[in-house]
Amino acid sequence: MGFATGFRGSLAQSIQAQAARAMCPEAMEERVIFLLDYDSFFARCMQQAYPPLRGKPVGIRGPAKGTAIIAASTEAKARGVKVGMHITEAMRWCPTMIPVQADMDMYGEICTASLRVLTRYTDLVEPFSIDESFLDATDLVAEFGDPHMLAQQLKRDLRAAIGPHITCSIGIGPNKMIAKLVCGFHKPDGITHAIREEIPALLRQIALTDICGIGPRVARRLQRLGVYTVEQLGRIPREVLTREFGVLGHVYWLWGQGIDHAPVTPYHAQAEEKSVGHGVTLPEAVHTRRQFDGVLLRLCERCGRRLRRKGMLGKTVHLWVRFDGEETGGFGGRRTLDHYTDDTMAVYHAAQALVRELPHPVRQLGVTISGLRRNVVQLSLLEDRVRQQAVQRAVDAVNDRFGEFTVMRGSLLHDTFPLRNGPPGHGFCKRYAIDPAEA
Ligand SMILES: [Mg+2]
Repeated sequence: MGFATGFRGSLAQSIQAQAARAMCPEAMEERVIFLLDYDSFFARCMQQAYPPLRGKPVGIRGPAKGTAIIAASTEAKARGVKVGMHITEAMRWCPTMIPVQADMDMYGEICTASLRVLTRYTDLVEPFSIDESFLDATDLVAEFGDPHMLAQQLKRDLRAAIGPHITCSIGIGPNKMIAKLVCGFHKPDGITHAIREEIPALLRQIALTDICGIGPRVARRLQRLGVYTVEQLGRIPREVLTREFGVLGHVYWLWGQGIDHAPVTPYHAQAEEKSVGHGVTLPEAVHTRRQFDGVLLRLCERCGRRLRRKGMLGKTVHLWVRFDGEETGGFGGRRTLDHYTDDTMAVYHAAQALVRELPHPVRQLGVTISGLRRNVVQLSLLEDRVRQQAVQRAVDAVNDRFGEFTVMRGSLLHDTFPLRNGPPGHGFCKRYAIDPAEA
């Protein structure tokens, strides 16, 4: 795709460089990593496109009949408008807010244009979300001399390509964790550079959940281990964490010391996975098809979210069902679609078609998607499905932030069957619905 043009070095060279760094941990820690995060991206794109909106409180609602605020301008946020709010609640906080319908095609085009600018500098660009990208600037800084100057140059080029009203903030650190952490320190339009010597003091000032990857759930589990601060996280014996979290415990332990070895992986070099799946044991057996479909849809939604988060598409949908009171009774099946997808409803319809009837009450079920490949059109965002993809991404973002199913499909609202393996409240409709016709 066009995105790949303008690379400075070849991919092979960058992979070699990463391999060399991986073998030499000291070199890993000499890295210069940028996180570039657009400020109020959806709202500022609108303000760039429609000048009368500039300087005004703007609340972006989902496409079509979306009723949740999926993004807000700096001016609206200052008046208390928050992402995830229902539009009427947002209007109560800020009566002058101008509600604007999201234009996902436009956001996609701007995202692509900005990635084209970044990949003119280096191929080590990892899109983290529609408005955030990591960039391994280690070699570039050697050329530019100063990370700050490089950041300013990047901003100038981005402004020229996508418009002066769409600003970004840049966090610079020796690794992804620190770059992500400090990126929000000077918003909007800021540049924050954390050097190695400042990291211990920095870590003393932040909460556990300020670290990207430690959400409220993980923080609660850490607190049960007696870890309340980032400092404590870095000092607790590593084994305590690995016993609780497995291999992730080791990662958390390093984060507690400000260390993160994760490389910046260009999207086209990311490792392929074989399958993505979710299963559940129900607190009580489901008897009706309606209940069954409700649980099935939730599992498909989780699979769809995982695929979208990873930028993957899948082709074969597997379903397994275990009947109540039987160790081995049940059935399984699979269906291969005629196209690759990351769409929850496509997965759901395929899984649903594998169940003709329920001869017995169901106690366990699971959905897996295999035949995965990387979503190469994901960044071009110019396909027919772009709007739908963008809605799902926005919904995922809200749910990632405010908890599973904060925003959900209308059809899920009819079903309040609790799922056992989630946190309290998991599986219930919490706040808003997105019309199934548009989701
Ligand atoms: Mg942003």
